[in-house]
Amino acid sequence: MTPPTAAAKELLARLVAFDTESAKSNIALIRFVEDYLAQHGIASERVPTPDGEKASLFASIGPTDRPGLALSGHTDVVPVAGQSWDSDPFTLTERDGRLYGRGSCDMKGYLACALAMVPQFKARGLNLPIHLAFSYDEEVGCTGVRPMIAELGKRLPLPRMVFVGEPTEMGVVDAHKGPVRWRVELKGRAAHSSMPHYGVNAIAYAGRLLGELLRMEEDLKAGAQDSRFDPPWTTLQITQIEGGTASNVVPVPCWFGWEIRALPGFDPMLLEGRLKAFAETHCLPEMRRLAPETEIRITATNRVSAYAADETSGIVPLTLQLAGQNKTYAVSYCTEAGLFQGGGAPAIVCGPGNIAQAHTANEFLSVAELEKCLRFLGRLADWAAA
Ligand SMILES: [Zn+2]
Repeated sequence: MTPPTAAAKELLARLVAFDTESAKSNIALIRFVEDYLAQHGIASERVPTPDGEKASLFASIGPTDRPGLALSGHTDVVPVAGQSWDSDPFTLTERDGRLYGRGSCDMKGYLACALAMVPQFKARGLNLPIHLAFSYDEEVGCTGVRPMIAELGKRLPLPRMVFVGEPTEMGVVDAHKGPVRWRVELKGRAAHSSMPHYGVNAIAYAGRLLGELLRMEEDLKAGAQDSRFDPPWTTLQITQIEGGTASNVVPVPCWFGWEIRALPGFDPMLLEGRLKAFAETHCLPEMRRLAPETEIRITATNRVSAYAADETSGIVPLTLQLAGQNKTYAVSYCTEAGLFQGGGAPAIVCGPGNIAQAHTANEFLSVAELEKCLRFLGRLADWAAA
């Protein structure tokens, strides 16, 4: 069958027009998708947030008595604030074979392809169902997909395989690192900065902790390597810091953020344990000798599991065959694949567009990538109909 390129472009234009930056509601977009599916006789189910401001959407095409193949993507996009665009980011604009717009590449292009294929999926007489699983809040730590995954195997069918369409230029990604983020809050004691021996300097103790983190970073660099990743080690970064109140006061508050991106098989909690032990041994006793109310709090704020494809599920050879590829890749950014797999559904990452265009001003998806994705989904439908 011919790829429905015109329909996919039209749908992408509609999806891009909804400003679904992660901080905003995605309900208008979800309603549009529900209506579109309903016009094709497909029922869908929302998994809403408690306040109803956002929702994931799950739909099935084909038989309902067996697990199928899920096409998964997030509906939220990163902010455009501070970026200088040559055209309105929320108006899909075609120039020189490229479709410009916020989210065109990451990852409304994949959603548009999946939706454009719905009439063909219906016409195929599928033997295995094709599910659509659209999430929200991916860009703020893969949080929105979690309630939907919690429903798989309960209110919603547990897919046999999940195809996460993050931009890989239709290459097959079968592993990614797992990010974990922490916030460290210190509380010192105030004093006039001319009399520092009466105070406890929260920034100075934060400095000691940062020193330990930098030593941990060096150890990680020298530690386990997996050459499929760039860089091949578990990375550690200090990402944010804030502290102090005035130029003549021994600072009471200081906080900083740090993250790691763990290779599959690496236990991130080892690092949390090491930093906590350092604080207990090298900071807190000294701080509390002078000021018992002083504190160091180390809290994990977000965690996504590292992901390596389930070798027993057959998803890797199948996706290679559908994508016309002969090797797989590992990436350092994270996706919802690890969470699906943790929820019992083997997952793979393969989608249109280049990650280099994601999150940038003048984000685009080339029409060639869009068509590559449509042909991939056509072969997936052939397989599901066989
Ligand atoms: Zn994405």
